[in-house]
Amino acid sequence: MAGKAERIGWLNGLVVGTREATVVIDPQSLDRVPDHARVLVSHAHADHTYGFRHKGVKQSTPETRDIHDALNSLGIGKFEQVKLGDRVAVDDIEIEALNAGHMLGSAQFLAHTPLSTILYTGDINCIDTLTTKAAEPQECDMLVIEATYGSPTYRFPRREQVYSEMVEWALYTINQGILPVFHVYAAGKAQEVVRLFNLYTRIPVIVSPRLDGVNRAYTKSGQPLEWKVSTSHEGRELLQKGPCIYLTTPSQNGSTAELANRRIARAYATGWAMSYWRGDAGFPLSSHADFDQLVSYIKDCKPKHVYVFTGFVDGIRRALSAALGKETKLVPSFLQRTITEQY
Ligand SMILES: [Zn+2]
Repeated sequence: MAGKAERIGWLNGLVVGTREATVVIDPQSLDRVPDHARVLVSHAHADHTYGFRHKGVKQSTPETRDIHDALNSLGIGKFEQVKLGDRVAVDDIEIEALNAGHMLGSAQFLAHTPLSTILYTGDINCIDTLTTKAAEPQECDMLVIEATYGSPTYRFPRREQVYSEMVEWALYTINQGILPVFHVYAAGKAQEVVRLFNLYTRIPVIVSPRLDGVNRAYTKSGQPLEWKVSTSHEGRELLQKGPCIYLTTPSQNGSTAELANRRIARAYATGWAMSYWRGDAGFPLSSHADFDQLVSYIKDCKPKHVYVFTGFVDGIRRALSAALGKETKLVPSFLQRTITEQY
């Protein structure tokens, strides 16, 4: 509508536009993102980092940049860091970076425009873990939130229980003379599992090379992790003979050369293990909020409007109607839409 000074909508990511500025958060394509737009990247998982290819200025936390650098060979040009807790001004929009609790350096972005406040959560987790602090709700006019596990099917057990079951399974497996192999995401989940075994056992942790660089980014930020990479002499020896656990990515299925002589048992650690898993064991260790966390987080933000950008849209919509007593507006997952007026 002519005359409105604010536009909020989807253009392969969240766009917040005012008379003076355009901010695009977590774009999944840059086709229609103007070079002068400011691009923000919430965290280092690959489905959120496409914006680092933007020609103009892009921003993330320094930890997100470091993890991205560890996983990718190309550096990021025109980069400006924003630390958690900092505010940056993009003309008449002020952006606050807030802890998202999802992985090291993961941020929510709270945008203050002349007319409203918009909170984009990125991927969030609302409980403390061994490597992250819970995301805290922020009051806002508009909340744009993920709902990866926005279905009542996904109510995770207490994290301490999941941790102890993982350690028990690993110890039992080692006692059988079998090597426990955990398949986990290289960034975030892997470092939590390393920390778990460092804290509660003396079992050496061996990781595949892809995890090694991310582990270094974690230690650079002050997180204490101890591990050996599978390609090192010590790592190779332990994998072939010693008691140890091996961490690798979810997609590494075949036997690696290091594991050729060992009997192995495979476990997957993911929230999806609530409904199914591959391999010999599955543990519902998630870096995302579960259904109950999402509902209470949304309530505590007291938003006038709620949009969900991924996951179980219908599940969360039904729950919010019941819990908040009002209809919430939801957009489906990343439909390509022209920017539209929302107010
Ligand atoms: Zn993520």
